[in-house]
Amino acid sequence: MPRVPTRIRPIGSILAEAGYRCYLVGGAVRDMLAGRPVSDLDLATDAEPRDVMRLFRRVIPTGVEHGTVTILFKGQQYEITTFRTEADYSDGRRPDSVAFAPTIEEDLARRDFTVNGMAIDVQSGTLVDPFDGAGDIQRRVIRAIGEPRDRFSEDSLRVLRAIRFAVQLDFSIEARTLAAIRESGAGIARVSLERIRDELLKMLQAGDAARALRLMRETGLLEYVLPELLEGVGVAQDSEAAPDVFEHLLLSTNGAAAERPDIRLAALLHDIAKPRTRVEDEDGAVHFYGHDEQSAQMAVEILGRLRLPKREIDHVAHLIRHHMFSYSPEWSDAAVRRFVARVGRDKVDDLLLLRAADTYGKLGERRADPGIRELRRRIDRVLAQQSALTIGDLALDGNDLKRDAGIPAGRDMGTVLRFLLETVIDDPSQNSRETLLKIAQRFYRERIAVPRASDAES
Ligand code: ATP
Ligand code: MG
Repeated sequence: MPRVPTRIRPIGSILAEAGYRCYLVGGAVRDMLAGRPVSDLDLATDAEPRDVMRLFRRVIPTGVEHGTVTILFKGQQYEITTFRTEADYSDGRRPDSVAFAPTIEEDLARRDFTVNGMAIDVQSGTLVDPFDGAGDIQRRVIRAIGEPRDRFSEDSLRVLRAIRFAVQLDFSIEARTLAAIRESGAGIARVSLERIRDELLKMLQAGDAARALRLMRETGLLEYVLPELLEGVGVAQDSEAAPDVFEHLLLSTNGAAAERPDIRLAALLHDIAKPRTRVEDEDGAVHFYGHDEQSAQMAVEILGRLRLPKREIDHVAHLIRHHMFSYSPEWSDAAVRRFVARVGRDKVDDLLLLRAADTYGKLGERRADPGIRELRRRIDRVLAQQSALTIGDLALDGNDLKRDAGIPAGRDMGTVLRFLLETVIDDPSQNSRETLLKIAQRFYRERIAVPRASDAES
């Protein structure tokens, strides 16, 4: 029997003294019984929001219309929700009305899965478990409370939640629940993309995220959530461990650390355009020309559709765009600097993480890559030398060039600065004001001003 966490006992006492009940509910009870780390401690009570607000000094009315207030108690936040039933779901998205319920049992009955439908009385420590959630935790299964088909038609997001919990907890999905997911998939089209996104991101952060994607494919959900991924089914590619692009992308996702959703997203989508770019030449060899750039563009589309923040999307797309580099020991130091300059100082580590994930997606196991390790060392050396890798690192700027080299501001200035940067990346010893001024003047005269003048004559 799990123990009630000490820090919520005083909350239970305050409610009990006023004649109310207080239960720990939902994910915390599930995770305690499953022996997993507990995150939020969510509470349920028969007190109505205005009573809760009266009893606690620091409260935030986070969702009073749904019966939820957040209390700040000894530096921690807790959501306390009044027992409720959720009456009608006419749109399969959210209840039309929320009615308060007199007992915890009724409140538990509105919840999605047996493992989420348990409560612990904060005062007595008694477990309330009307649907045998504890048994299902022992048997390691996700089972809908009541009739699965009805539960999924009330709120279609639950089909994704079932898969997410199965993968997070490493449970199976009970047969009738699984069958109902297969039948209810189309309903997901009515769920808001923000809710879908949040579930997907949680799935991606489970150790075996690939299993979530396979389950979504088997149950037909992927068609609604990430149809582009299905294009890779049956498209063979060079990989020891994966029979097709689809499976390669899944394995690659698992190859990135679970704590790095950005790298996992990049891994999931890095070859997403391979099926669309596939060509076979006369010799029967298969190519995926330009799949890096096209995959980056598809990632922008897909992640935009899923309402990810723009910064996140740009970051993931950038990694995908650059994932095809191939290092060899013959690279000069200048080549290493060009690589870092192209990818960006602050992105190069992440790109190597994506490469490691990609390699895992090909081999199905972690294997040290001596080439990448060497590249890593050489990048560190280049960065330690603090040589110029961006225009901002040059020993002069556009104002200097305008004043002292007579180069007009505008598009030509950009061309000159980029040329100076290339020069300095090739040979860092050139990065001094005097030298760059001379180079700039000559470049501008010979390559911009004079050719333009002769164009005009002809
Ligand atoms: P986590 O916080 O790790 O995602 P959780 O179980 O706490 O897991 P929440 O989404 O925070 O999940 O919801 C808390 C509880 O509310 C759940 O355990 C479940 O009892 C109930 N619940 C949440 N969403 C739904 C839903 N869509 N349908 C039915 N019950 C739900
Ligand atoms: Mg929670």
